[in-house]
Amino acid sequence: MHSANTHHLANEANSSWGYLQIGRTLEHFDAEIRRIQWIMAIGLPIALSLVATSSWWLSGLAMQPIYQSYQQQQQFTANAAHELRSPLASLLATVEAILRIPQSNQQDMQIMLHTVEQQGRRLSHLIADLLLLTSLEQNSSSKPFQPCCLNDLVSDLTEEFLELATAADINLSSQIPTCEVYTLGNESQLYRLVSNLIANAIQYTPRGGYVTVSLVKSDYNAVIAVKDTGIGIGLADQERIFDRFYRVDGDAYGGLRLRSRKTGGTGLGLAIAVAIAQKHQAHLKVESQLGKGSVFTLEMKVLSSKDIEN
Ligand code: ADP
Repeated sequence: MHSANTHHLANEANSSWGYLQIGRTLEHFDAEIRRIQWIMAIGLPIALSLVATSSWWLSGLAMQPIYQSYQQQQQFTANAAHELRSPLASLLATVEAILRIPQSNQQDMQIMLHTVEQQGRRLSHLIADLLLLTSLEQNSSSKPFQPCCLNDLVSDLTEEFLELATAADINLSSQIPTCEVYTLGNESQLYRLVSNLIANAIQYTPRGGYVTVSLVKSDYNAVIAVKDTGIGIGLADQERIFDRFYRVDGDAYGGLRLRSRKTGGTGLGLAIAVAIAQKHQAHLKVESQLGKGSVFTLEMKVLSSKDIEN
């Protein structure tokens, strides 16, 4: 620092008479740094553990459908193996019996060969159903959808099942509108779907009962309903009958359903029906009352006359 009148003393050695030092305390900066260090020390592990926990939870959530489909696949393989094993075991046992008793009479032989044929058919039926389900799932049918006349489908199938229904003493009839109803789809698959429903209706209806197949058209939709006056399905089973290999337990209904296994269904009929319905963006549902009967309805989109012409 210089005094005010130092200009004439400029050449003198001690022109300055003092220094002024200005400083500022860094205490609050240090405090801030310490605070940040604390936050880092406590916050970082908490944030890391939160990230780890949430990613573990999210990956579990993402894995759930994969795990479920893996379990379903395992269940399906186990069920298929079980279903294949029973007719195979019976077939082998019968063949062994034939081989061990070579001099059995012609009538016994016929009975045993009939059993072999029955079990062989059952196996072949089961394998065909499994292959159809797989091809439906893989969408491997290269056939493009075409307009299908639902009136023809209902009348053809009713005619086809008439003999079976008559043999079972069941009154099978159909109700078809006068106007033609078309939908876009794979004709043979739609025939298979509705024939599964009619076959079940006949199979699970006692003698003297009624089965009616009707077709109703609204503005945009067509509904095919297969109604029977059969043994019906309990509420709990209604949700499960569309599962693969599911068959209603006869004992649960005091023996009402003993026909279910005896008649040799594979338990795949409705699973195939649902897979075909899904492929056609149609909706298949059941309404049933135990001991009174069931109605299976298939609702699907109709083609307008303009679409058919194109
Ligand atoms: P299945 O080959 O045993 O008939 P489905 O998948 O077609 O197999 O049907 C599954 C089960 O649903 C049947 O075992 C039967 O118990 C029940 N079910 C299906 N349709 C009817 C019906 N119309 N009336 C009563 N029960 C039915």
